[in-house]
Amino acid sequence: MFLDGKLSTSSLRVICPDCGASLSSCKLTPEPTGGLVGRCVQCNVTIPDLAITLRYYCGSALLDSSTIISGSVSKDLQKRGFFAGYTLLVHPLVAMETDNPGGKKELGLLGDFAAMDRITLRRIDDSNGNSANHDQAIIQAARKQDAILVTRDKGMYGNAVGQGVFCLTFKLEPSPGGALDTLATRS
Ligand SMILES: [Zn+2]
Repeated sequence: MFLDGKLSTSSLRVICPDCGASLSSCKLTPEPTGGLVGRCVQCNVTIPDLAITLRYYCGSALLDSSTIISGSVSKDLQKRGFFAGYTLLVHPLVAMETDNPGGKKELGLLGDFAAMDRITLRRIDDSNGNSANHDQAIIQAARKQDAILVTRDKGMYGNAVGQGVFCLTFKLEPSPGGALDTLATRS
């Protein structure tokens, strides 16, 4: 089901068991029972064992500010935990942007999960990252760390996928007759 994983997320592809699309990103949606489940960005079908497979091939995920502020990851870990066992990376820019009550609360909860060994939480040092563009700095750091990028920000998502960084994202806006349907015709 999964090809070309090994050590680089830029060659990581997930094959959808339903529509057969070769995916360089997947969507996460909350299950009714709690916790996140991975879906195909093309046909929306659930991809079985996505968490364990990505963890095997990659194992680290860089959370952007939109993800941290949403609280999605700690909510997920309170349940079954898509992100259980992952090393979650915090970029200095993200730490700066989440230095507010919502962000601190989520980082505190993630700290608790790290203390319980459900995840590893690691602040990365990107002092050489001097990219002028904010999104670019985050994307390049994910690439350098060979980490999956987790974002709710559509601009960040598009830029990262465009540069071959494997992304996990959340509910995409429905695009009636839009870009996703066009992509659906590829084989
Ligand atoms: Zn599919």
